[in-house]
Amino acid sequence: MNIQNLSVLDEVHICPDCNSKMSCCEVPPVHVGDGLGWGSEVFFICLNDECPVFKNGWKKIEVNYGHKGSFRNMQLPGSKELNAMMVASKIAFTGSIVDPDALREQNERYQKEKKAIESLPTCLADNDITPVMTLILDEAAREQGRRDAIDILIKFNDLSCIDPIRNHTFKNTEFEQKCNMVIAVLLKNNYQKECPFCAELIKAQAKKCLHCKADL
Ligand SMILES: [Zn+2]
Ligand SMILES: [Zn+2]
Repeated sequence: MNIQNLSVLDEVHICPDCNSKMSCCEVPPVHVGDGLGWGSEVFFICLNDECPVFKNGWKKIEVNYGHKGSFRNMQLPGSKELNAMMVASKIAFTGSIVDPDALREQNERYQKEKKAIESLPTCLADNDITPVMTLILDEAAREQGRRDAIDILIKFNDLSCIDPIRNHTFKNTEFEQKCNMVIAVLLKNNYQKECPFCAELIKAQAKKCLHCKADL
């Protein structure tokens, strides 16, 4: 879920009937209720089972509509207008509670990816490898962006990319193999190799590792 306006996550809504903090929930994919237009991606709902609105609602609905259900108090972001939302069960909406921190994190990652993709065409001219590495190491980034980044990586001829790639766990083996190929070319072009014992970079023709002193 990409939320457009993150400031709604800072809103605090208190249920006027039970004084408990209302939960921030993702709006259902289909519009529910008549005349209730969701102009929003999230809404606030009182999920307190001891709330009098919810406790008394079962009887009200039974009497008025003859089916099983109750009401929960809800408010839309930026509004203190109280609405009663019909719920069919105790657990309705409990599965769509939004975790503001997780959502903020998700959004931050998404913005970083977006910025990296935008900088990709100019990063070589700017001599800035950051967007390339951001995309390669972001497992949640779109595949095409990561593919483009790997293609550009080789043009940087920058051996500092090796460590972060080696330390990264790729879920996609195709990307891992492509990166390994790029690294192999970079090492060759720079007359370097990785010590098979300590993984430090050493001269391609070295007989003894400068770092771990192993004989090669
Ligand atoms: Zn309440
Ligand atoms: Zn070594």
